[in-house]
This record gives sequence, C-alpha cells and structure tokens, in this order.
Amino acid sequence: MSELLDSKQIIVYFVYLIASFFFILGLKKLGSPKTARRGNQFAMIGMLLAIVMTLLNEQILDYTYIIAGLIVGGAIGAVVAKKVQMTSMPEMVALFNGFGGGSSTFVAYSEYMRVSSEATAPANDVTISIVLSVLIGTVTFFGSLIAFAKLQGIMRGAPITFKGQQVVNALGLVAIAVLGYMLTGDYTQEQYLLIIIAISTLLGILAVIPIGGADMPVVISLLNSYSGLAAAATGFVLSNNMLIIAGALVGASGLILTQIMCKAMNRSLANVLFAAVGTDDSTGTSTRGDRSKVTEYTPEDAAMVFEAASSILIVPGYGLAVSQAQHIVHELATMLQDRNIKVRYAIHPVAGRMPGHMNVLLAEANVPYDLLYEMDEINEEFQNTDLALILGANDVVNPAARTDKDSPLYGMPILNVDYAKSVMIVKRSLSPGFAGVDNPLFYADKTMMLFGDAKDMMTAVVKELKDS
Ligand code: NDP
Repeated sequence: MSELLDSKQIIVYFVYLIASFFFILGLKKLGSPKTARRGNQFAMIGMLLAIVMTLLNEQILDYTYIIAGLIVGGAIGAVVAKKVQMTSMPEMVALFNGFGGGSSTFVAYSEYMRVSSEATAPANDVTISIVLSVLIGTVTFFGSLIAFAKLQGIMRGAPITFKGQQVVNALGLVAIAVLGYMLTGDYTQEQYLLIIIAISTLLGILAVIPIGGADMPVVISLLNSYSGLAAAATGFVLSNNMLIIAGALVGASGLILTQIMCKAMNRSLANVLFAAVGTDDSTGTSTRGDRSKVTEYTPEDAAMVFEAASSILIVPGYGLAVSQAQHIVHELATMLQDRNIKVRYAIHPVAGRMPGHMNVLLAEANVPYDLLYEMDEINEEFQNTDLALILGANDVVNPAARTDKDSPLYGMPILNVDYAKSVMIVKRSLSPGFAGVDNPLFYADKTMMLFGDAKDMMTAVVKELKDS
C-alpha cells in the first residue's frame, strides 16, 4: 500500500513539475508581444494540469461543492471576461487580484478551523503560515477593492491621508505579530485570528487610500504580487508545493512589474506608497483650457499635413483604447507607408490603463510588432521626425513632467514628442488625462489640435486621403 502511495506521490510531483515548467515558459513568452499569446496558452496548460492533479491527488470526500464552485465561478468569470471593455481591464484585474487574496484568507481560515479542532497542537510553522496567509490575503482583498473603487470612479482618485497614518500602519503590524505569537502559544484562541483579520482589513484599506490616481499602475501590479504571496503562504499552510511555486512566481513577477512601472514613472516604491502624490482626476487642477489659445485643425488640414511629412511617429494613449481607433489607425498607417512615409509607433510603459495596454490594443489590429518601439528605444528619434501624432495620449507626453516641480507628474519620463518638428494631438477637448494635470503642449506653437473622437477623426482623415 505504502509503495502504491509513494508511486502515486511521485506521479503527482512529476505532474506539478511539468505544470511549473509550463508556468515559467508562459512567463518567459509573455515578455514580448510577439509571443505573449503563446505564453498565455502555456500558462493555461500549466494551470489545467495543476488543477486536475490536485483534484485527483487529495483525499476529497465530496466533490459537490467543488463542482458547484467550478460551474458558478467559471460561468461568472467567462461572462465577465467576455463582456468587459478593454478600457475596464484594470478594474477587472484589480478585482481578480482581490479575489485571489480573499480566497487565500478563506482557505487559511478553514485550515485553522480544521487543525484547531484536533487534539494535538499544530506545528508553529503551520500557525505562522496561517497568520501570514490571512494577513496578506486580507490586505490584498480590501486593498484591491479600494483600487477598484478608485479606478471605477466610485471613490475619489485623490490621496486620502491623515496625521499619523504610518504610525497606525506600524502599530497594526506589531499587533498582528504579537497576536500571531500568542496564537502559536495557544492555538485554540480563535478570536486572535479574527482580530488579525480585522486589523488586516484596516491595513488593506489604509495601504491604498493614500495612493493618488497617477500611481494606480504601480498599485495594481503590487497588489498582483501580494495575491501571489498570499497564495504561496497558503501553499505552506496546506503543504502544497504547486501552490507555493505558482504563488511565488506570481509574487516575483508582480514585484518585477512593479519595479518596471516605478522606473517608468521615475519614482521609488517607497515614494509611491508613502508620498501621497496625485490629484483627483475627476476634478483635477485643470482650468479645462481655453480653445481660443490653441491652433485648431480639421481632418482635411490634417490629411494635408500627413501627406507633406516624410516621417511620422504615432503615440497611442488611453483615448485610443476608449475610441477603439486601433484598426483605423493601422489602415491610415498602411496608406501613409504606401506613400513612402516612414511610420512608427512610440509606446510609453504606462500609456493606457494597464501594463502593456497599447501593445495589446495594437496587436488586436495586427499592427506589425517591428513598428512598435519602447520609450527608451525611440525617444532620441523624435527630433528627427516631421510629425508626432498623438492619439488620445496626454500624461505620457506632458512636458510638465520635465519642468514643473509642483506637478504630480514631475520626474516621470515622457515621450519627447515636443522635440518633433511638428505635433498633432487628437482628443475631444482640452481636458487633462488621468493625473488631472494641464498639458502646456496643447498651447505650443508647433502643436495642431484635432478635436474629436480619435476613431471618428482618423476615419475622416483616411477618407480625405482616399479622395485626394
Ligand atoms: P491619459 O489618461 O493621460 O489621457 C487620455 C486622454 O485621452 C484624455 O486626456 C482624453 O482627453 C483622451 N480621450 C478620452 N477619450 C477619447 C476619445 N474617445 N478619443 C480621443 N481622445 C480621447 O492617458 P495616457 O495614456 O497618456 O496616460 C496614462 C495615464 O494613466 C498615466 O497617468 C498613467 O499613470 C495612468 N495609469 C496607467 C495605468 C497603466 O498600467 N498603464 C494604470 C492606471 C493608470 P479628452 O477627454 O479631451 O478626449
């Protein structure tokens, strides 16, 4: 019998190893837009193997709840993912992170209920893992709900701070450490764990409310990393290697992404977490601009400018995603290339509302990958370019980030569009972007404003070019 169990265990570990291999391969492939689709498929295979093996491996007494959960959860997930607008992806990612953290808390808590009903005390490492899983999972759940509410506009985007906030956070963590220590001493004291959950709830809320709208990309990737760490801690609770590996991979890749986002915004993580930088994007600091001070162009004028240029750099931003202009932009770019105009795309790492947003959008319209350039690769090129065409981007091209020390964007590296020989900005109004900061570029002598929805405007320009 024991031989049989051993060989079964070997199969389980072997399949877990293969699943981990698929996860790592998937992550590697996600590193480039060219291979990202394949990367997702590999990771999905890994997850399927891990789930099937876990269901077969553990001594499950009753599959009823598992099957019901799979059907209900799977159906909700599939419908939501199918229906969600590309522009609402960050909100969905925030919720997914939160649910990951929440489930870690539930699993750890139910494992506590199980071990605490037994006569012998659990080993200290089990109790500590339970406390960590509950702490990180609950912080992730409530932090993600706040991030969701801020992104969705249910809550103001502006940082919410009060005196002594960091002292409260520190005291909360100390209290959790003390309660965790007491729980290892007397594992039957369920109320200690309940108080830990209550304090973690407060910490989760306090962790995200001071973070301003402009720093949301960093928060989302950080919460993503937390959800992985919570899962890894739960893996220790359950002694499940697969969960430890998968959680650690999510935790580590989320941290790397956080680091990349911080670098893209030229901020340290500590500065993002504690400096409470940012404005309320719903009210902003904007005066909403004065149209009489800008140079306004029509699609007909724009078509002539395009025809006269020999090189164009397209800068996509959030507005491109809102208007779903990627297909018509690709059509326009192809028409211009046919007229021997050099067209390339300049991608800012935090353009849009989620990491890689612009790459995903342009890939959807089959824009060739070799036309896409990251900020570091292309920034030198603006000065040699006839026209920078900005489509629904704002913060990522705002020169105030270079010059205005009081601006929440100050220090964030931007695309140097203002170095191009001329600039055309397509947006509906003079409203600011996500960070709520006015953009002096709208009023520059070399800037042409084309007011309107990006898709409508580009459709009109394509029509002009076809007719010309
Ligand atoms: P911004 O949010 O700075 O600006 C987008 C602009 O798009 C707006 O000024 C808006 O102007 C315009 N717009 C909206 N709808 C349309 C439309 N239908 N047609 C044309 N234009 C439109 O976007 P950026 O991409 O430049 O910058 C991204 C910002 O989002 C940064 O501040 C970043 O920190 C933040 N962020 C990024 C995340 C990420 O992971 N990438 C996550 C969360 C936040 P108007 O209303 O006048 O049309």
